[in-house]
Amino acid sequence: MVTEVINANELHKIAPVFGQHSFDNHEQVVFCNDKDTGLKAIIGIHNTTLGPALGGTRMWQYKNEWEALNDVLRLSRGMTYKAAITGLNLGGGKAVIIGDAKTQKTPELMLRFGEFVHSLGGKYITAEDVGMVTEDMDLVRTVTPYVTGISEEKGGAGNPSPITAYGVFMGMKAAAKFAYGTDILEGKTVYVQGIGNVGEALVEHLTNEGATIFISDINKDRLEEIRDKYSVSIYEGTNLYAEKMDIYAPCALGATINDTTINQLKAKVIAGAANNQLADELKHGQLLKEKGIVYAPDFLINAGGIINVYAELENYDRAEIMRKTENIYDTTLKILQNAQNSNLTTYQAAYNMAQARIDAKK
Ligand code: NAD
Repeated sequence: MVTEVINANELHKIAPVFGQHSFDNHEQVVFCNDKDTGLKAIIGIHNTTLGPALGGTRMWQYKNEWEALNDVLRLSRGMTYKAAITGLNLGGGKAVIIGDAKTQKTPELMLRFGEFVHSLGGKYITAEDVGMVTEDMDLVRTVTPYVTGISEEKGGAGNPSPITAYGVFMGMKAAAKFAYGTDILEGKTVYVQGIGNVGEALVEHLTNEGATIFISDINKDRLEEIRDKYSVSIYEGTNLYAEKMDIYAPCALGATINDTTINQLKAKVIAGAANNQLADELKHGQLLKEKGIVYAPDFLINAGGIINVYAELENYDRAEIMRKTENIYDTTLKILQNAQNSNLTTYQAAYNMAQARIDAKK
């Protein structure tokens, strides 16, 4: 039911899609609505120069539709650069479903979402992101072939999160090498913010390496579960950003490096799985550079997941997945060195490398 009629003279005050801060020449933005299942989703296709736009589906209880739109625009753009820098023949896309994955995700809703994905004829290929699990993708697979992240039992490459975590671990080691002269993380204090699928797998690598690990999450049960499984401490304070630490690993949601947090950060290295960690890539990238904090670009080091799901399209095996993911170490070091040599932010150096690959294909 429409409850508010907007005065036509006031319409120009609302930022439309093309005028959104995060709109960056996206090729297509699709709004999906289904009254019967309650589905409200947005699919963002940023760029398909290198191939079909592949990116996961996030289900999240956004405060409003503008927040959801902003998220899908930012996430899909990030996917373009992630695929490009990783050397994959894929474009950038992403989908968001508005709602609480714990209470509102039904099989009917997921199937209807799959039909919307199918209607795009392969221009967008989905996978899992926050709020999604492989079983959801298996379900979507029953209505469209344009889905990856399928379980191994159904012939897919399985849950991408452990591979994403391995890539983040590689990127973190490379950033440590750059910042400290050694990539051995034993004795380094690492704060892992968000211990979901990726965060937990990262904690496992860090535990094996002998790092001192603090974990934080909004989910208390999860914190206790991870504390009981690994040698970690739960962060009990209220402002993680101001804590003394060597490495900050954002593995929850994006934009945690922003006007408020950046001046408090004491970490020398930032390396985590979350997409879009910098609230403003140019401004906050520059501030990190000025503060001498080594930032391992998120879209580079969290590419393990896309490498994993790409295997389903290209039919390469586990060994190749691991080789490609391990390569994130070398690419990260190269980017950090390029940035230093060219007096660029690490974000800009990574972006330039990705954009060069897209431009070469045009
Ligand atoms: P997940 O949903 O399994 O875990 C996210 C965790 O973050 C949850 O435990 C949640 O409670 C916690 N969280 C949410 N808000 C928080 C806050 N404000 N403070 C602390 N914790 C908070 O998601 P995931 O698959 O582990 O992904 C984590 C991040 O990595 C996301 O940003 C995702 O987009 C990104 N990412 C994931 C993959 C992948 O393969 N899963 C690949 C690339 C990027």
